[in-house]
Amino acid sequence: MITVQNLTKRYGDHVAVDDVSFTCRPGQVTGFLGPNGAGKSTTMRIIAGLTPATSGVAHLYGVDYRTIPNPATQVGVLLDASAQHAGRTGAEILRLAAMTMGINRDRVDEMLEMVSLTPEEAGRRVRNYSLGMRQRLGIAAALLGDPKVLILDEPANGLDPAGIHWMRTLLRDYADRGGTVLLSSHLLHEIEIIADDIVVIGNGRIVAQGTKAELLAGAGSRVHSLDDEALLRALTAAQIIARPHASGGLDVDAEPVEVGRAAAAVGVVLTELRPADGAQLEAMFLQLTSDTQREQPTLEGALR
Ligand code: ADP
Repeated sequence: MITVQNLTKRYGDHVAVDDVSFTCRPGQVTGFLGPNGAGKSTTMRIIAGLTPATSGVAHLYGVDYRTIPNPATQVGVLLDASAQHAGRTGAEILRLAAMTMGINRDRVDEMLEMVSLTPEEAGRRVRNYSLGMRQRLGIAAALLGDPKVLILDEPANGLDPAGIHWMRTLLRDYADRGGTVLLSSHLLHEIEIIADDIVVIGNGRIVAQGTKAELLAGAGSRVHSLDDEALLRALTAAQIIARPHASGGLDVDAEPVEVGRAAAAVGVVLTELRPADGAQLEAMFLQLTSDTQREQPTLEGALR
């Protein structure tokens, strides 16, 4: 369980994390979604005790990370897959980490197998790893101490689609065994694939949160018909808001059953009718991303 309450982090005048509150539940994978610079890493670094908060609290099972004895056996953290020592082999990195944690070295081979790094790959120096291999090694390191909480910053970076599905299965199994997972991404589709719960952050503020089902539900309908103009008139007459979609058909602010009823009443033939899954989440996320891109970073901001 991770509890973040009214967390704020300022760098000078810049508010990187602005009064952020959310909870990550055991048994669930929580996706932390936001464009680059939204405040995800800063929030995760505060949770993992690496950066002090300006105000607010971040607790793991009710306590501050920094007060947990041998924290790697309680909380697995992957914040920067490139931070591993490039001159060591993957297996060496895990063996050293196992020694530091005081856990059995057999666990290293188990973890390498779990993240699908072959013995040959584990024997290579990390400087020769692809980003995807570094991510797998980072996940192995995070899981080494058999923690009940996992905090992973952009773990899908560098993974191909098959790798992302692999990660979903791995994290799903972990959560099904009672683990709590917080993972970040700046890509909506990664979060949609992997997460159960979603927290969306933009410019340091939480803009939406809920279960994936909640966030994707209530998004209205997409409909295609043989006569969209007649359908639009029928929907408007039934006081249902609808608008033509850029790629044809209509976006309707109503459940499919109501759209079907309005179409049937005027005898319009529907060729496609479905819930508009994720349309609102996607629109909100695109807006956040374009807002961020409009705010060009200044040299002053980069130096702070
Ligand atoms: P994300 O992980 O969502 O990409 P970050 O948490 O890395 O976002 O950054 C949030 C904001 O805080 C950005 O504007 C970033 O420039 C700023 N920031 C992060 N770390 C520092 C720091 N050490 N000093 C100054 N500003 C920082």
